[in-house]
Amino acid sequence: MTKELIVVKDLHKNFGDLEVLKGIDQTIHQGEVVSIIGPSGSGKSTFLRCLNLLEKPTSGQIIFEGVDIAAENVDIDTHRKKIGMIFQHFNVFPHLTVLENITITPILELKTPKAEAEKEAIELLKKVGLEDKKDEYPRKLSGGQKQRLAIVRALAMHPDVILCDEPTSALDPEMVKGVLEVIKELANQGMTIVIVTHEMGFARETSDRVLFMDEGIIQEQGTPEDIFEHPQNPRTIKFLSQVL
Ligand code: ADP
Ligand code: MG
Repeated sequence: MTKELIVVKDLHKNFGDLEVLKGIDQTIHQGEVVSIIGPSGSGKSTFLRCLNLLEKPTSGQIIFEGVDIAAENVDIDTHRKKIGMIFQHFNVFPHLTVLENITITPILELKTPKAEAEKEAIELLKKVGLEDKKDEYPRKLSGGQKQRLAIVRALAMHPDVILCDEPTSALDPEMVKGVLEVIKELANQGMTIVIVTHEMGFARETSDRVLFMDEGIIQEQGTPEDIFEHPQNPRTIKFLSQVL
């Protein structure tokens, strides 16, 4: 078995009186592609946001590369640099060009020399078919192009894992495929990916493992075949009957 990258132990998250995550145990191995599916409000985004401490866990451990990042007094910035995050709404800087969007964080945070950061950014842009947009501002890009830019921005930091929260949900239907193809290509290259998605075809084709979340718990998990062809939990069966 490959290296354990993220080990989550008995993770709980409350917002006031609302208990959103009710004890999550999960191990993500290096190179794994894990899809999280489940109904709206089940805690999928909260779980993903806890993994890079955008939300502070109420209790439990998140051991990332051997360090419990949920513990007090952890310098989360050190670890967060290694965790890429892609949101539903593309997080790009509107006032920077495409190229600047990609290079700014490596230059500031990794101290990468500008010329080197630009060279790498252009290579990444070529991979996602945006090379000719390098001097444009994001407002000139379509939703799908903005999301591909957001992915490249994350990659420029050389993350050890990429967390994607419904990366195609805000896109027009014709834009979805191009973005999923970029993510699939990353998966094929061995990137560790945890993705919350409503794209069941993608989850089935691309994942090593699928987690079905409902009511703050991972109710069932398994290979895509286990989950999509032979689901066991009545909640999984009901959910799939509604979305497939
Ligand atoms: P999902 O991504 O599966 O749709 P979320 O993790 O976004 O679910 O939300 C799970 C529950 O937590 C919902 O009831 C939501 O309203 C609540 N919630 C999420 N974020 C917050 C927050 N910052 N403050 C209060 N409640 C929240
Ligand atoms: Mg969500």
